[in-house]
Amino acid sequence: MNDPFLSIQSAVDVVLTSPHPENKVAACLFNQKKSLTRTNAWPVAIFDKIGTTRIGDSSGTIHAEVNCLLHFEDRTDGTEIAITDPCCPNCAKSIAESGIKTVYIDHKGFLKDFAIRRGNEFQDMSLSIMAHAGISIYEINRKEKTIGIIYQPEQGYIPPEDNPIEIIKQIIPATPDSFQTLIDNVRIKHPSWGCAFATNQAGEVFSLVASSHAAVGFSQERFEKEGQPSPQTMDGKKYSFYLSPLNRLLFGAAKHGLKLMERYIWTSVTPTSRELVNLVGAGYKTLAIGDIDQCDTTDPQDKPSDAISTLKSAGIMTFHTLKRT
Ligand SMILES: [Zn+2]
Repeated sequence: MNDPFLSIQSAVDVVLTSPHPENKVAACLFNQKKSLTRTNAWPVAIFDKIGTTRIGDSSGTIHAEVNCLLHFEDRTDGTEIAITDPCCPNCAKSIAESGIKTVYIDHKGFLKDFAIRRGNEFQDMSLSIMAHAGISIYEINRKEKTIGIIYQPEQGYIPPEDNPIEIIKQIIPATPDSFQTLIDNVRIKHPSWGCAFATNQAGEVFSLVASSHAAVGFSQERFEKEGQPSPQTMDGKKYSFYLSPLNRLLFGAAKHGLKLMERYIWTSVTPTSRELVNLVGAGYKTLAIGDIDQCDTTDPQDKPSDAISTLKSAGIMTFHTLKRT
């Protein structure tokens, strides 16, 4: 399927099946060969064991766009996505990181109360994040059968700042020993980084290394010099222009059609609550952390240690410490 009208329709067709009581969103991710339509939802492991309780400072749901990205059965690089609603800044970062090149948004999505309440988030952050990544953004009117331009990059635009995650094909198999060697040998300056082994469909093993970084196209140097642009605050939620290593590993793997290997995912410090929910949503049950007492969050309200204890005590995930030797 490769038709934006059919794709947006398939999202609209399922949007009311979203288990979320208020904010029902659906997305359809597609390329020439495959498509996947999902709503926002609680990952089964979370819903079955703890229901709709919050996890740390994050809702236990994963957003529709992320639900598609984490389960698409092909590389997400170069795909397109049709969404019933304007996307939030976190999804905009995930969309940019996973190599999506075109975003369609249902025009009715801009008229909903939900969108009007959150309008600034989309205008001030999501649009800017996607524009910097060189993503084309369109508004679809299903009834009129028209597509309006919200943003189109200049012809031949290449993001001025891009720091893709490092992906290296391995010649030795993934074992606890080879994983420890990977963690020990990475030369990285950033205190917050992560690595993982991943496989492709042929079963070949790759190492992935990512540090915390500004979203595609944003200048890391400028952020560090000027300080981060002030995070937008809506409904008590804060967003930043940075991506944390675990999200970069998840969406970087998706971009290249790789699957992170269970038991071979490591972060130097504790990820944010939102990342932990994404990790569960992607189907993982274990995470190794270098320093569990340090947290990778700029949000003073985020409580990743609460998220960890909730996930641990419900038997949803296990965490273990794995240090650089
Ligand atoms: Zn979102």
